[in-house]
Amino acid sequence: MQSNIPELEKLEQLIDLHSHKLKATTLGYACSKGQQFPIHGIELGSQSSTAPTVIFVGGVHGVERIGSQVVIAFLSSLLERLEWDLHFQQLFTQVRVAFLPLLNPTGFFNNTRSNGQGIDLMRNAPVDAICRTTPLVGGHRISHRLPWFRGKDGLAPESQILVDFVSDLIERSSITLSLDAHSGFGLRDYLWFPFAGNIAPYPMLAQTYGLMNLFDNTYPYHAHYKVSPQSHFYTTHGDLWDYLSKQHKKARFIPLTLEMGSWLWVKKNPRQLFNFAGFFNPQKQHRQERILRRHTVLMDFLIQAAYSSASWWPQGKELALLNDAAKRLWYTDLKR
Ligand SMILES: [Zn+2]
Repeated sequence: MQSNIPELEKLEQLIDLHSHKLKATTLGYACSKGQQFPIHGIELGSQSSTAPTVIFVGGVHGVERIGSQVVIAFLSSLLERLEWDLHFQQLFTQVRVAFLPLLNPTGFFNNTRSNGQGIDLMRNAPVDAICRTTPLVGGHRISHRLPWFRGKDGLAPESQILVDFVSDLIERSSITLSLDAHSGFGLRDYLWFPFAGNIAPYPMLAQTYGLMNLFDNTYPYHAHYKVSPQSHFYTTHGDLWDYLSKQHKKARFIPLTLEMGSWLWVKKNPRQLFNFAGFFNPQKQHRQERILRRHTVLMDFLIQAAYSSASWWPQGKELALLNDAAKRLWYTDLKR
């Protein structure tokens, strides 16, 4: 059936075309105004109960279509490579790569940030900030008619799907890295890690610092990401990645959020200011294609890093050193 959501149609075509190479599951449905849309989860590679895993998530916010497009484009490349790339086929016997490319299809259909019930999924987790939050943007329970609404009764179905999907993968993985692709206001690309609702360090701070150093050293010409805890940018209630980090604080789990700097393309084409979608999504084809290419090195790196974690995952003395360095970089204001 036609969904009128091009990203969902593209995803379903990929699933049909490559069904022999992937495990696709309809994790549930999102509903709005009598319409119902499936939410798909996909797994590629190893089915071992201890395989290292990378999870790519997109489409949490309905107006940030480019996030979903980046994830679907990467999935499509991986599926093509798995046809012919023997090195890749070998790698995928050892590593698992999972995708949740379009979490909020009703938001895509209605062209809204929130889901069909007006809930902002990234404010919806049952976790309250323990610091002052940014007013309104930080999440509120005033009304579903206002943006950044947290919802009133627990997890929305889409949030529950994300939490269950990620938790299940964490429980059957030796290490889990995730990348949740959004587009935000700003001039550059950000990579955020938890917490969003706490200005204190999160449990995987040293490991995150180690991982991002590895990326910068390996790909100095791709180091256009500004890496920081989300709380440096703004603080929110109900962040799903905060919640998952707390639920799995003993697990080797690093959740990253990619906030693609949408002002980069607005600046180049100011007429986009007159078009709501233009705030969050490049409107010219060559710019859209550039964004679809821009993050593949990072995404590829995460897969290699998960597979090779034994060679960089910090332990003992190194862990303490990295923890100190990370605190000096990101938490100088905190008393230690
Ligand atoms: Zn977003």
